[in-house]
Amino acid sequence: PLLVARGILPSAPTQPAGKTHYVSVTRSDEIQQQRSRLPVYGEEQQIMEAIGAHPVVVLSGETGSGKTTQVPQFLVEAGYGDPASGNPGMVGITQPRRVAALSMAHRVAQELGSLGHAVAHQVRFDTTVGADTRVKFMTEGVLLRELAGDLLLSRYSALVIDEAHERSLNTDILLGVLSRVVRLRERLAAEQPGVHRRLRLVIMSATLRVDDFVKNARLFRVPPPVIKVQARQHAVRVHFARRTPAPGQHLAEAVRKVGRIHRRLPAGGILVFLTGQAEITHVCKRLREEFGQAGGEGEGEAAAGEPGRVEAGDAEDEDVDLGGGDLAAAPDDDDFAMASSDDDDDDADDEDAEPVIVGGDADAEGRQQLLGESLRAGGRGGAAGRLHVLPLYSLLPAAQQLRVFAAPPAGARLCVVATNVAETSITIPGIRYVVDAGLAKQKTFDAQTQVQRFAVQWTSQAAADQRMGRAGRTGPGHCYRLFSSAVFNDQFARFSQPEIARMPLEGVVLQMKAMGLDAVANFPFPTPPARAALRRAEQLLGWLGALDAEGRATDLGRLMSVFPVAPRFARMLVAARQGGCLPYVVAVVAALSVGDPFVRDHALDAAEAEAGGPDDGGAETRSLDSAELAARERRRALRRRYWAAQARLAGARPTSDVLKWLTAVGAYEYAGATQAAADAHFLRPKAMREIAQLRAQLAHLVHVHCPGAAPAGAAGGRPLRPPSAQQQTLIRQIVLAGFVDQVAVRADLAGGEAAAAGGARPAGLRATAYVTMWGGEPVFVHPESVVHAGAQGQRQQMPAAVVYGELQHTSRLWAKVVTAVDPAWLATVARPLCSFGNPLPYPLPQYNAARDRMVCHVEPRFGPRAWPLPSVKV
Ligand code: ADP
Ligand code: MG
Repeated sequence: PLLVARGILPSAPTQPAGKTHYVSVTRSDEIQQQRSRLPVYGEEQQIMEAIGAHPVVVLSGETGSGKTTQVPQFLVEAGYGDPASGNPGMVGITQPRRVAALSMAHRVAQELGSLGHAVAHQVRFDTTVGADTRVKFMTEGVLLRELAGDLLLSRYSALVIDEAHERSLNTDILLGVLSRVVRLRERLAAEQPGVHRRLRLVIMSATLRVDDFVKNARLFRVPPPVIKVQARQHAVRVHFARRTPAPGQHLAEAVRKVGRIHRRLPAGGILVFLTGQAEITHVCKRLREEFGQAGGEGEGEAAAGEPGRVEAGDAEDEDVDLGGGDLAAAPDDDDFAMASSDDDDDDADDEDAEPVIVGGDADAEGRQQLLGESLRAGGRGGAAGRLHVLPLYSLLPAAQQLRVFAAPPAGARLCVVATNVAETSITIPGIRYVVDAGLAKQKTFDAQTQVQRFAVQWTSQAAADQRMGRAGRTGPGHCYRLFSSAVFNDQFARFSQPEIARMPLEGVVLQMKAMGLDAVANFPFPTPPARAALRRAEQLLGWLGALDAEGRATDLGRLMSVFPVAPRFARMLVAARQGGCLPYVVAVVAALSVGDPFVRDHALDAAEAEAGGPDDGGAETRSLDSAELAARERRRALRRRYWAAQARLAGARPTSDVLKWLTAVGAYEYAGATQAAADAHFLRPKAMREIAQLRAQLAHLVHVHCPGAAPAGAAGGRPLRPPSAQQQTLIRQIVLAGFVDQVAVRADLAGGEAAAAGGARPAGLRATAYVTMWGGEPVFVHPESVVHAGAQGQRQQMPAAVVYGELQHTSRLWAKVVTAVDPAWLATVARPLCSFGNPLPYPLPQYNAARDRMVCHVEPRFGPRAWPLPSVKV
């Protein structure tokens, strides 16, 4: 029968040996030809034999070699997913990104011709899976949710974990769980062959490190075989920028670089790597304005809207061109001329090259003018036809995503502006030029501040090289890096870190628990975190009320897990459904997640001065010249303005830095979110934009997941009104609920060893020592905190207890982002930390060395009765 099948399909490959079931598929000749050119195609037999013989197989191969599109088809043709075969379960393929899941499902359906209807996708809120589905593309999150319902994944006969090199947290968790599911299914299939069947696991990755899964005995007792697919890769020349553009300038730089390629260089698609939807939309718009129609020259200036706005430093890597027409007329761009071969990055570094500037002593303005002229005169060399500009990012509607695969209109040059989805997941045909900003938006986590955020950062060297490789698929290509080789060498990590190392562990643990994976300490992580850290994360989640006494996720915990912020912030959001506080807490959580919104330098200067730092006026003995004096005076004036602004934001009786941040967010919004508003309050506009975005996102999630809660007042609605006094108290309690383990109590009240550590008689407000629940070195409220002003205004006494957002170690251990709290709140807000016992003579916390924590006995100020006094373990 195999030969018969073979005979029907003359253009199909040789039937791999050992196949017992063969599903025939009719494809068009065109598709068949395209398939046969893919490197993976020639390896079908080897791959299928390995899958037949081993429960787990690792397939690593150059991006674009055909792994994602072909392996699912090999499996289908071998009978996987066929109800009539021995492997009736579906073939599941996971992708870290939605956009890849959708477009790959589409492509495989197309390639499977007569069986195309058997291919489906499932992403959150959208699925095409039906009764006849044999191949299912999905995001990792979808499979994880299915696992929570069916640990055996009995609907599948084979699972392909694609893009495993990305090491998303979901990939790691999936690999850990699947390693056990595969084993379990092996055993069950052996014991009850009629009921259970084996599960095949294929781990696919680009050619990056795979040792974390292969040489990891905890994950796979027997190391899985690794199949490496060799791919044709043409030479790519790398061109570094001489100067790395200032932050925020990379968009203009990318537009400019694309323009130069388009005007001067031979045919071939351009692929631009940026970080996200907003950037991509902006750049696409600029490019369309400038090159959307045939003969882009001449239009540039008017359409760009910002004539002559060429950034300083811009001229640096352009200088060669200023000489005149002959260089520009040559097919080689100036960058090309200076660049060197692909296999020696150092040579490609033109940074130290002698600048060739005509009229080298021209001032910056003159150079900009020259440059402007050379830009306007563009188009001399290449035939600048139309540029067919297409965006590519995850939230783009599916139909638009697929446009990148279609040939551009006749005479037009394709230019795709993409996120790192085009790095390894999606291979766009016909790309010859890559323009790489070198940045990626990543979830990051600051272990010290415990703050998690999305941040735009330099990508890794390995990722930048992957991006470069995208230019060499069809023929030799060029990669323009919008950063210098020095930055690449010194500031880029060699490899990207797995996401698990970039997330607070309590976030990881909460995600796992919400999925029903309870035994996190024994979980076979590809890169295991420290056990002590895992335990500590579980402990914190317990205190936050996310886990029950058995360590299982509570309803509250599952609700918290849907918010893309650290669990302590999610706790605040969930706690905020009372007293009309939600809009405020959404803003607070957004601000805490993004981080300090204030301009730093003046503040640090000021803090230094407060702490008796080097620039502490008066004490100066050396005589200063007039310029120095003037500069100093300017600095002082700036500082005075800064402090005045801070005082305004802090209000009359400040109790919390968090409330000051909230006021800043409100004031900025009220003033129309302008640059002037940012300047007036010493705010960073970029931070404010991020806060606004996160607020909108969180407000939406609150709306979806906490039905019935009062509107969370997203950006776009009415500006926030200042919270009432009662709401302010509530907000402080909610902040305490999130930072429940970051409470500090005044040392002179804490008694015992703690008091000795802090000194019982503080010399002044600034020197008031606090002890944290973790004991150890005394901490001091940072001089910048509004809590000092609050104390000064009132009783000349620092608050008995505070919560802090972070600890910073410099000359002392400083508590920052501080909020004064009433210790009595602990009994209510921090209930999981409280135990109720007999009262002791002293009123406030004491460090208990044996238990390594503080025990405080507080008199409750609210509650039905004042007796018995709760004893609160802080
Ligand atoms: P890998 O997974 O090894 O990176 P893929 O299987 O994704 O490789 O890609 C194989 C080839 O299929 C690439 O040349 C890619 O351009 C092509 N391809 C993928 N999707 C489509 C599509 N929708 N239309 C046309 N070609 C596609
Ligand atoms: Mg792929």
